[in-house]
Amino acid sequence: GVARSVDRPVHVYRPSMGVEARRQLEFTSQIREAIADGQIHVHYQPKISLSSGQVLGAEALVRWQHPHYGALRPDVFIPALERTGRIGALTEHVLEQGLRTIAGWLEQQVRMSVAVNLSARSLADSGFPELVGSALREHGVPPELLTFELTESAVMEDRDRALPIVQRLHDLGVRISIDDFGTGYSSLAYLRDLPVDEVKIDRGCIAEFAGSPGDSGLVRTVLALGHTLGLVVVAEGVEDPQTRDALISLECDIVQGYLYSRPLPLDAFGEWLTSRTRLTGPATGAYRVPVV
Ligand code: C2E
Ligand code: MG
Ligand code: MG
Ligand code: MG
Repeated sequence: GVARSVDRPVHVYRPSMGVEARRQLEFTSQIREAIADGQIHVHYQPKISLSSGQVLGAEALVRWQHPHYGALRPDVFIPALERTGRIGALTEHVLEQGLRTIAGWLEQQVRMSVAVNLSARSLADSGFPELVGSALREHGVPPELLTFELTESAVMEDRDRALPIVQRLHDLGVRISIDDFGTGYSSLAYLRDLPVDEVKIDRGCIAEFAGSPGDSGLVRTVLALGHTLGLVVVAEGVEDPQTRDALISLECDIVQGYLYSRPLPLDAFGEWLTSRTRLTGPATGAYRVPVV
């Protein structure tokens, strides 16, 4: 039953609940079991340098192969996990998998980074930086190969609490990226208070830009601001060569999107890398240190 493993009053099942609310409740109560049972998979989507064509690394994106509902996208279950304070176990799992992946690549002489998405919860958890530090040591991963992607809203939710935690993560040597930039506050001022290395222009903004690349106001502004602040600027959701070319002419640093690859299971990601290297030749240096 749904209510069996529920341990907090907010999770209590009520017959008046809608189907969606009940499903969300189900997700939150099942997450630990799902992780232990191997239902949570991490897919990888390449992040590519526009200037060199190098594959710099990949973003870790979680999927839930649910025994009853089938393959679930994160948007379906992450918000419920965040609301009920159960996201921590998932974050730790993705971090663990990501570090394992980096270590595996290093064993094959491949130096690439992995980006892990964080929720507001991790930014309110003063024990999180320490957990990250010991996980890095345990896996023997150089901190600069790990990136955390945080949204502006996650930082702004409890800014005073989040800032020192982001600072401690950055002090570990981990890279900090601001995800979905252009959607939320997009306050240029707060970027200065944060130890940020990278800013990712939101997929929706890139879609609009793709529709009319001549009208490149926002993309241009974020690129100018980002570069002024010494940040690496990423465009996410790049789906066609025209958009890529427009981004090249605006000197965008890194791209991600279906044009290159969808998020793939680790094995398939490896095959994608190999075929890409075969096609483009080792000169594109898919296996070199990122120069960012
Ligand atoms: P995000 O971090 O902004 O990730 C980008 C999303 O855009 C991903 O959706 C990706 O699959 C999708 N995408 C990438 N390229 C394209 C493209 O060219 N076209 C289109 N239409 N979509 C593209 P996904 O995997 O469904 O993830 C959605 C969101 O879920 C992520 O947005 C992130 O906020 C969250 N998420 C995913 N994994 C995790 C995780 O492990 N922890 C946390 N806290 N959140 C996660
Ligand atoms: Mg992200
Ligand atoms: Mg994003
Ligand atoms: Mg997003």
